[in-house]
Amino acid sequence: MTNVLVTGGAGYIGSHACKALRAAGYTPVTYDNLVTGWRDAVKFGPLEEGSLSDRARLDEVFAQYQPVAVMHFAALSQVGEAMAEPGLYWRNNVEGSLTLIEAACAAGCKSFVFSSTCATYGEHDNVVLDEHTPQEPLNAYGASKRAVENILRDFEAAHGLKHVIFRYFNVAGADPEGEVGEHHRPETHLIPVMLEAIDGKRPALTINGTDYDTPDGTCVRDYVHVMDLVDAHVLGLEWLREDKGSRVFNLGTGDGFSVREVIDASRAVTNREVPHSEGPRRAGDATKLVSGSTRAAAELGWTPGRSTMPQMIADAWRWHQNGHYEG
Ligand code: UDP
Repeated sequence: MTNVLVTGGAGYIGSHACKALRAAGYTPVTYDNLVTGWRDAVKFGPLEEGSLSDRARLDEVFAQYQPVAVMHFAALSQVGEAMAEPGLYWRNNVEGSLTLIEAACAAGCKSFVFSSTCATYGEHDNVVLDEHTPQEPLNAYGASKRAVENILRDFEAAHGLKHVIFRYFNVAGADPEGEVGEHHRPETHLIPVMLEAIDGKRPALTINGTDYDTPDGTCVRDYVHVMDLVDAHVLGLEWLREDKGSRVFNLGTGDGFSVREVIDASRAVTNREVPHSEGPRRAGDATKLVSGSTRAAAELGWTPGRSTMPQMIADAWRWHQNGHYEG
C-alpha cells in the first residue's frame, strides 16, 4: 500500500482527509498527540501517537511507514486563543511544523501538503483575495501559518521539498455517511456553536460584533464543505506525485455569508430557533474573508459541489444529532 503520513488525522479536517485518502487507494497513517484529536476518529488507517516536537518519534514513524507524502493538518486553530496566547501558536504551529519538515526531508519524503489559512491575508478592503494578495495576518494563528509557508519555501530551495499550500476559508459540514465529524472541546467555531445553542447544549450564541462595515454589520466568511476541502487535498497530492511543482491554492467558493445569514440558514435547515445575542467584536477578526480565486478549479480540477450553505448545515446537524466520539 502507498502510505501518506497525516498529522492531525484524529482531528476534524484530518479525519475527513483520511477517509478521502483511503477511498483514493492510499493508507493514511495518522500522527497525532490526541490533545485535541480523538482516537475514535482514526478509522481509515493506523494511529501513531506522538508530538510534532518529538524528532526521534517522527524519525521512527517515517522509517516504519516510508510515506510518499505528508499531509500536515495538526495545529492550533482558534483566533481568540491565538490573541490571548500567541506563544502557544508560535511554539506549536511553527516550531512543531519545522521539526516535522526537517524529519520529512531527512527521511527523503519530499512531497508535502500543508493546511494554511485565509487568516494569513488579514484585512483588505474591497480586495479580491487571491493567491497574490499580500499576507498581513491580524492574529498569531494567521502569522504562524504564514511562517510555515515561508519555511516550506526555504526548504524547497535548500532541499527540494515540493509542497502544495492550501489556504482554507471557513470549513464546515461533516462526512454525510456519519463516520467522522466535527468535535472540538471547547467548541468555538460558528456553525457547531450555533447547533449546540439550537439544541440547548449551551445557553445562546453570541454574535461577535454587529458594527462591521458589511450589509448587516456582522463578519462575512466564505464557507467550504469539509468533504470538498479534503477532495482538494487528494488532488494536491496527485499534483505533487505527477511532479507539477510547488503551488499555493485558495480553497473557498467565492460566496460570502454574514454571521446573521448563517443563523438564518440554520433556522431554515433545522426548523428550530437559534438562541442568540449580540456581543462585542472578537479581537483578531477580519471584516470579510472571501476567496476570489479560481486557481484550484482551473488547475486541480476541483469542484466544491457540496459547499452550499444548506448542505453544510444539514450535514453538520446530522452529525451533531447522531455522531460523537467517546475518546
Ligand atoms: N462567530 C460568532 N460567534 C461565535 C463564533 C464565531 O459571531 O460564537 C463569528 C466569528 O467572530 C467570525 C465568524 O463567526 O466572524 C466565523 O468564526 P469561526 O470561529 O467559525 O471561524 P474563523 O473565521 O475564526 O476561522
